[in-house]
Amino acid sequence: MGEKAIEQIHGDRVYRPRWRASRDWYSLRVPRSRVVIIGGGFAGLQAARSLARTPVDITLIDRRNHHLFQPLLYQVATAALSPANIAAPIRRVLRKQKNVEVLLAEVTAVDLEGHRVRAGESWKEFDYLLVATGVSHSYFGHDDWAPLAPGLKTVEDALEMRRRFLLAFEAAERVEDPAERQALLTFLVVGAGPTGVELAGAMAEITRKSITRDFRSIDTSAARILLFEAQDRVLPEFPVAASEKALRHLEEIGVRVRLGERVDEIDEHGVLVGEERIDTKNVFWAAGVRASSLGAMLGAEVDRAGRVHVEPDLSVPGHARVFVAGDLAHVPNEKLGMVPGMAPGALQMGAYVGRAIKRDVHSGGEAKSPPFRYWDKGMLATIGRNRAVASLWGRTFGGMIAWLLWASVHIFFLIGFRNRVLVALEWAWMYVVFERGARLIVGNRSAESGKGS
Ligand SMILES: Cc1cc2nc3c(=O)[nH]c(=O)nc-3n(C[C@H](O)[C@H](O)[C@H](O)COP(=O)(O)OP(=O)(O)OC[C@H]3O[C@@H](n4cnc5c(N)ncnc54)[C@H](O)[C@@H]3O)c2cc1C
Repeated sequence: MGEKAIEQIHGDRVYRPRWRASRDWYSLRVPRSRVVIIGGGFAGLQAARSLARTPVDITLIDRRNHHLFQPLLYQVATAALSPANIAAPIRRVLRKQKNVEVLLAEVTAVDLEGHRVRAGESWKEFDYLLVATGVSHSYFGHDDWAPLAPGLKTVEDALEMRRRFLLAFEAAERVEDPAERQALLTFLVVGAGPTGVELAGAMAEITRKSITRDFRSIDTSAARILLFEAQDRVLPEFPVAASEKALRHLEEIGVRVRLGERVDEIDEHGVLVGEERIDTKNVFWAAGVRASSLGAMLGAEVDRAGRVHVEPDLSVPGHARVFVAGDLAHVPNEKLGMVPGMAPGALQMGAYVGRAIKRDVHSGGEAKSPPFRYWDKGMLATIGRNRAVASLWGRTFGGMIAWLLWASVHIFFLIGFRNRVLVALEWAWMYVVFERGARLIVGNRSAESGKGS
């Protein structure tokens, strides 16, 4: 009798150890293990996919219905792409994987002793748990700055940034007072990590190329793009040579970079940097990281950002079947200090946890997983059209080659064939005509009438 036939007889609650798959008499009638994955980001989705052929019942819970490709979020914020180009419904992504159910719910509590998590109004029990709820931005104790200086983490954040960015030009076109106009056309980005650099680069490109002919009263190319970084170089996580190249690229396209300076105060009319007051209506936040609050509920030690210190097999100390992966995990790394909070790390951790669960299920808890090892594939960041920096295979390079590599890698890792094609077409169009296809102002109506930006 074949494996399929036995599964039909016993229903989907038959578990058969793989190493005896050909011996029907050995089939065990034990319930399948329940795997709960919280978070459908890079780590959670990858873990679910790598368990596709394992006889477990997976529940993937996310508070959003879509998986979001965050590395291209700044392109939504700067009107190059639409949200649907970089997001995919989790339910659709996993529709062919029969051992997964997807729940749209916010997890608000984790009960490790009771082996259950609270999802929305109900509790969900687990045998294995993966917490992969990522991080958000941190205002370093100044949460009151959040409405004044939006950060970039979700589709809503990106649309809000786009709204403010585009509205600033509309408002500047109407006002006559030069000082007010100057404040409206000053865009200040806090934090020169990859997100800050990419945002500032794109903003410079739009103001200098894409919209110069669209307004009658203002010269958009006179807009000031300021990029503040508290450390002494842009892209502090990259090698020094890459930072220097990125700085050169930024300055070439008109971004004014201010290094070693910290924004001390933000209010409705601008920012304070030391003694200097800068009037601006547009502050965007690209600094700091704060871990998801679920990390603190696991009872393990956390780092300053709230990331969970995990065991070498990514499990939570004292809980061999509870794992943390992705940005939420603090995983030491000999070369880099810790595994960087980037997509490759999250993908690798998700795949690793999938394998660890599979091994545990198949061995009945006997086999131990080798420690997680991070494969550093290098880093890429783009700075507007034709410019990027890459730190790969121990080498640093920039310019057009790095830019083409950046574009190819991002298209390759986007979820869904449709999104890959649409993004490639959108970029090709933008490259030829300098036009940004998603320049729509949507959202808050009071601001649309010019009362705020
Ligand atoms: C603007 C931006 C640009 C970036 N650029 C790059 C880049 O160029 N290259 C790169 O490699 N990396 C980049 N990153 C980092 C990369 O996106 C992250 O490292 C990666 O997304 C981490 O994956 P994750 O699965 O740990 O978390 P996430 O992808 O953040 O996924 C977490 C998921 O958990 C869900 N969730 C959170 N809390 C709950 C809850 N309580 N209940 C239910 N669901 C919950 C969220 O909805 C989300 O779907 C960027 C990040 C940002 C924000």
